[in-house]
Amino acid sequence: TKYVVFDKTGTLTKGVFDVTGIYPGRDFTEDELLEYAAYAESYSSHPISKSLREACGELDARRATDAQEIAGHGVRTMVDGHVVLAGNARMMDDSKITYTKNTGTGTVVYVARDGQFLGSVLIADEVKEHSKQAIAALKAQGVNPCLAVILVGENPASQVYVRGKVKDCGECGIKSLELRMPETTTQEELLAKIAELAADKTVNGILVQLPLPKQINEHAVIDAIPPEKDVDGFSPVNVGRMQTGQPCFLPCTPAGCIRMIESTGTKIDGKNAVVIGRSNIVGKPAALLLLAKNATVTVCHSHTANLKEICANADILVAAVGRAGFVTGDMVKPGAVVIDVGINRGADGKLHGDVNFEEASAVAGYITPVPGGVGPMTRAMLMKNTTQAAAMQNGVAI
Ligand code: NAD
Repeated sequence: TKYVVFDKTGTLTKGVFDVTGIYPGRDFTEDELLEYAAYAESYSSHPISKSLREACGELDARRATDAQEIAGHGVRTMVDGHVVLAGNARMMDDSKITYTKNTGTGTVVYVARDGQFLGSVLIADEVKEHSKQAIAALKAQGVNPCLAVILVGENPASQVYVRGKVKDCGECGIKSLELRMPETTTQEELLAKIAELAADKTVNGILVQLPLPKQINEHAVIDAIPPEKDVDGFSPVNVGRMQTGQPCFLPCTPAGCIRMIESTGTKIDGKNAVVIGRSNIVGKPAALLLLAKNATVTVCHSHTANLKEICANADILVAAVGRAGFVTGDMVKPGAVVIDVGINRGADGKLHGDVNFEEASAVAGYITPVPGGVGPMTRAMLMKNTTQAAAMQNGVAI
């Protein structure tokens, strides 16, 4: 069985390995790892075990997020002196923390089966780690970064996103203000809250979770966020600066997509990039950022003719459609980098991407999973922007 191996940062550094063995995992001591390495060798042609498949199925069913729990289902072995962790893409994504903590020996590498897994959470962790260090440096100089997150109404998905952002702030050392306003909030009330935060020198970033209730005009709200506190990168000033290649806050999701594409070692320059979707928050800025990196960019949308053919020509395919499983295997060029932005809740209650992962991962060179792909990366980019905002507003270099 061929596996693709990533290092700690999620970067493909070790090429394709023929993994010599597997073992249902638990937390191993260094001695045990060495012992299992020998064990693994004796099972050189062992396929991925039934127990792992069952574990993955079970994991999926429970949508477990507890890394400790997931660790119990992992598979690990040694290859060429590296600790190798095997599992399906989603499982690897969820379980990386425990693995990095528990392996005390060799280089920690990550393995994905059935198509190459883009170690997005690992890349996100790297970005977060950078922010953490920068924040510690800022604090040492008396600057305490603070992000205000406004949530209007009770949209369940928005509540989850806001919780995630607040949690990330906590992990990175950013103070967060979670401001909840009722569904019936008027535009004036929201604008007044933004004006208050805009004037507050202790608040460095202002984020209004979208979508907003019908009575509120999104454009008016985004316009009201001062560009220097617009850590989402949605304000017209930041959008204009991005378009003209000036320093600005880049929108988190598309900037995260670029970061992930580059983490594969793929050169964007000269590539055929196709973005499906043309929203202001994902599709359009993703296309602009790819263009800025010298890709030849095609933007597809709901009126595009020959969409399948166009996609099948893409070296880089970014799907931001909002339809589960929209991108099928026949729309993916062999070896392409596929970035799945979609987050769609299925009738089964689970989250699904815009890409049919089973089909596309068999063809793609790299692919991001959902959940666990673009989502964590987006949140990490928000931490980066907030850190930058705090530094800039206080005239401190980071
Ligand atoms: P949107 O609804 O604003 O835009 C969807 C785009 O897809 C539109 O431009 C539309 O033209 C295009 N589209 C719709 N049907 C199509 C079809 N049949 N053929 C071709 N194009 C079609 O959505 P959005 O805000 O850009 O979000 C897209 C998806 O990404 C959603 O699932 C959303 O939840 C997800 N999202 C994820 C993150 C993240 O952090 N991972 C962030 C933002 C959005």
